Amino acid sequence: MSTFRFDIIKKSSRSRARAGLLYTPHGVIETPVFMTVGTQGTVKSLTPAMLEEIGAQIILSNTYHLALRPGVDLIREFGGLHRFMNWNRPILTDSGGYQVFSLSGMRKITEQGVTFKSHLDGSPHFFSPEKVVDLQVGFGSDIMMPLDICSGYPRTPEDTNADLEITYKWAQRAKDHWEAQSTNQWLFGIVQGGMYLELREKSARQLTGLDFPGYSLGGLSVGEPRELMESVLSHTVQFLPENKPRYVMGVGLPENLSHAIAQGIDMFDCVIPTRLARHGHAFSSLGKINIRNQKYQKDQRPLDPACACYTCRYFSRAYLRHLMAANEILGLTLMSYHNVYYLVHFVEAIRAQILSSEEL
Ligand SMILES: [Zn+2]
Repeated sequence: MSTFRFDIIKKSSRSRARAGLLYTPHGVIETPVFMTVGTQGTVKSLTPAMLEEIGAQIILSNTYHLALRPGVDLIREFGGLHRFMNWNRPILTDSGGYQVFSLSGMRKITEQGVTFKSHLDGSPHFFSPEKVVDLQVGFGSDIMMPLDICSGYPRTPEDTNADLEITYKWAQRAKDHWEAQSTNQWLFGIVQGGMYLELREKSARQLTGLDFPGYSLGGLSVGEPRELMESVLSHTVQFLPENKPRYVMGVGLPENLSHAIAQGIDMFDCVIPTRLARHGHAFSSLGKINIRNQKYQKDQRPLDPACACYTCRYFSRAYLRHLMAANEILGLTLMSYHNVYYLVHFVEAIRAQILSSEEL
């Protein structure tokens, strides 16, 4: 049986925020937690040692990408993704549903599953709810996601409801298949329903009826206005059980994180810190910085004077700007290091506030 457990150790008295401990086979995660994205089994430009130094507690990888390349058979031969990539802390894998719909040129959805062409070489593939669980069992992910349909934005209520019906049937099949395997991995349910509050409630009720060990909110941050995302999020949370972990997928800007944590969300992921870094953008306590800007040419100050990360302790804005201008790999590493550190510690600081009763 599962070695998993989720304990809420402190609740805010002024918001729905909570601090918890999520026990996995690869260690205990302190929540709320920001999860760094390592789509291809690597967090771009950062070594696992750097991620540990940063304090990353868990990383997220992607079933679609890993299934296409290098393939689950190779990863299984290594005993799973942890050993293959030399990361010994927890791993969560996304189902790949989102990538099938966003990256694949050709796709056909039936109740059985989804047929699609690889964005790498055009080869045909088929994902069923069962197969997606099997892939993640092969990866050895601590937390797995079921195949779902992300409705996107904008989308009509009729189409969103049709997506939801398939997502629910797939969730049932994924759960049956997962339970039949008695692994010590966890499978979350994914709440969909687009931007329609009644469909979000319906999806949450359907999935909680299946009693998953945790719940994700999918289909947010897909192009909708921020206020809409916030209203959908806060509305949906009330239909999720208090004692189970809650995860908002693909949301991770600092301004989104504070709001989501106050609504009682425990887990987040976003590609933003490493993607922004590759474009020369950095988070900072003084607002966003574009290091390519001319005004940093002779600037001897750190990226963020309030940050204690390796990049900010030892390198100047002028040097970082030089590295980015010269397209040097170290530039990507140092910028990514700072951005991931910034978000991980941003969430850690909020957790400390919840624990110290300073509240949100
Ligand atoms: Zn820094």
